[in-house]
Amino acid sequence: MFAQVVVDISNDAVDRVFDYVALNDTKVGMRVKVPFAGRTVLGYVIGLSEHTDFDVKKIKSIIKNLESVPKLKPEILQLCLFLAKHFFLRLSDCIKLVIPSCVRLDSQHEIIEYDLTLLFDLDTAINLVGKRAKNQLSLLATLNEQGSLSYQKAVELFGRVSVNALVDKGIVLKNPHRKNRYQYDSNQKTIKNILTVSQSNAVNIIEHQNKTFLLQGVTGSGKTEVYMTIIEDCIKENKTAIMLVPEISLTPQMMDRFNSRFPNDVAVLHSGLSEGERFDEWDRIFNNKAHVVLGARSAVFAPIENLGVIIIDEEHDSSYVSESNPRFITHDVAEFRARYNSCPLILGSATPSIESYYKAKLGKYELVKLPERINGLQMPKIEIIDMINEVLDGNTSPFSKKLLSKLDDCIKRGKQAILFINRRGFASFVMCRDCGYRAKCDDCEVSLVYHKEDNELKCHFCGKRYKMLTNCPNCNSKNIKYGALGTERVVNELKSIYKNIPIYRMDNDTTRKKDSHKKILEEFATHTPSILVGTQMIAKGHDYPNVSFVGILDADVSLYNSDFKSNERTFQLVTQVAGRAGRKTNDGFVVLQTYAPKHYVYRYAVNYDYEGFYDKEINLRQTTGFPPFSNILRILISSVSDNKAKDVTKKIFDKAIELKEKYGKSIIFLQAMPSPVKRIQTKYRYQILTRYVPDDKITADFYNIADMIEKDVSIFVEVNPNNLR
Ligand code: ADP
Ligand code: ZN
Ligand code: ZN
Repeated sequence: MFAQVVVDISNDAVDRVFDYVALNDTKVGMRVKVPFAGRTVLGYVIGLSEHTDFDVKKIKSIIKNLESVPKLKPEILQLCLFLAKHFFLRLSDCIKLVIPSCVRLDSQHEIIEYDLTLLFDLDTAINLVGKRAKNQLSLLATLNEQGSLSYQKAVELFGRVSVNALVDKGIVLKNPHRKNRYQYDSNQKTIKNILTVSQSNAVNIIEHQNKTFLLQGVTGSGKTEVYMTIIEDCIKENKTAIMLVPEISLTPQMMDRFNSRFPNDVAVLHSGLSEGERFDEWDRIFNNKAHVVLGARSAVFAPIENLGVIIIDEEHDSSYVSESNPRFITHDVAEFRARYNSCPLILGSATPSIESYYKAKLGKYELVKLPERINGLQMPKIEIIDMINEVLDGNTSPFSKKLLSKLDDCIKRGKQAILFINRRGFASFVMCRDCGYRAKCDDCEVSLVYHKEDNELKCHFCGKRYKMLTNCPNCNSKNIKYGALGTERVVNELKSIYKNIPIYRMDNDTTRKKDSHKKILEEFATHTPSILVGTQMIAKGHDYPNVSFVGILDADVSLYNSDFKSNERTFQLVTQVAGRAGRKTNDGFVVLQTYAPKHYVYRYAVNYDYEGFYDKEINLRQTTGFPPFSNILRILISSVSDNKAKDVTKKIFDKAIELKEKYGKSIIFLQAMPSPVKRIQTKYRYQILTRYVPDDKITADFYNIADMIEKDVSIFVEVNPNNLR
């Protein structure tokens, strides 16, 4: 028998399947040790056959099978083959996506713990021990009282000798059990609601259908309740579910709701887990110990069997597209698995991505709507404030008069407010008023952000820190100007207005530590009145009943990103943030501050007119030839050496021009240029940008011309990237 083996080496030259002689119990999906180029390396068996096309005498044998139960289940192996083909990835990289490194490389192991229990009634046990062994008697008493005790704890309390003596005598039983390092302490009990008519309609339409659904429900329309009902029904049929959220650590409420609804049946997978926790959760899923997987994008690869539904919540969120190698699009992966299991895939959002809505219009997805908030609540009123007028009126503070009066009103009524500013730090840049010098990172072509708390300048691209300037390094002037405000400054200014009210800040700086999101949100939830200031982190899925006011301080931050998605992203952000207000009472109010009050994004957003926005935007995309009417493909070439990066760019671009000749008008746009951010982490960056009528052949050809190995140069291809920087 011959085994087809993928070797675990990331190198294009070995991106092939090699044949080895299989061992007796070698199975498909197993990790094995194989000889390769004079070394012993890790490999994965992706097939077995009686025949080989190679010279039988030269074929080497597998050295060792690394497991008895293959780590790659049949569905996941099929998924790897799909990933490789669909996203132009190496098979070994695909396997890295689906099996976490702690499992693949055996860097973590299960931990066995022991419990002690009494094997006799207390009196019998005491007689067997005799009156002199004080410690042993105390342990017996404790066990009698508590029923059981962990071995570890017993050793701490009564000493190893006594504990072991009782076990050896057969009076106390030492039972092994598997420790789960991941513990979610949730005391939150959430109630199960009786579904509204729209909700149960949605459930009925979706259940058991082998289709993709776009569930569009305004914020607070009860989408999560729909998901949970469908999952519950799956579990009743002994099926399983994957529920994806943009970043689970941002939404502890979702964890609470799921844990309370499906106790001991939810496994989580996300980037915030320690290696040990990830190992245990992955293993629980692998051994079918949980029916529900809840997690961020990579949870879509969970080795769960017998799926009854896959859900992508907030499907428009950019985190569903990975920005580094191996790059994949979560929707496509989920679609593959849903079809493999003949089950529904639900894409949920209040503001679907233009691309998904377009697919719904074409009939590729079935659109299901939840048009109203629960209990007939109104959507909060959004008022646009023209900040130019504020300046003309002599108000140079970051808060308009209207915002201040509404905020004050909210606080006086003992309610909560959320202020949203999509910029962290104190000021977005610092510069010299006299000579125009602007502080930049040594390693990246970007301005440094001022963080007042640490009195430092920080690079938001590479994390490098610098001392704050007191004088201009160029002309020595003390006349320093601060750039646009961020979360830190907003909190500062608010503190001078509200001295006795808790003000919380949630951004990348305040949430570095494990569980810090959860702590901030718990604090916020339990204090009224209070104010929460934050970046887009606060836009996602939070459901706090006392929030009645939302202020969007600088809505334009995402509007002028100069990429084709900036309108869409701004519309989504405004709608999502506004959606945090008035979720339980009809007093929600939103102030939106902008310097472009007439922009159509805001015009539609204030009316919650998704359809209107979509029609305008899709029309624009069609006339300008942007996705979904074209694909944007970017080849990013980067290197510490500017010249090498330029040379490789030129080489690839020459080939790209040949493609342009080959495909003619189908290629709408093709250009090579420095990237918008010319240098990141000491690497110079160039890009070849193209737009073409969607066609897999063209995509494949572009991947092909970029597929070259150049020393000290990295080449990265993205189709329809979220970010062009
Ligand atoms: P979405 O996910 O669409 O933003 P949620 O599922 O979070 O909406 O629901 C919004 C709020 O309404 C939550 O507090 C939820 O508990 C509540 N809710 C949802 N469905 C019902 C229902 N059928 N009856 C009563 N309350 C509900
Ligand atoms: Zn200066
Ligand atoms: Zn930097």
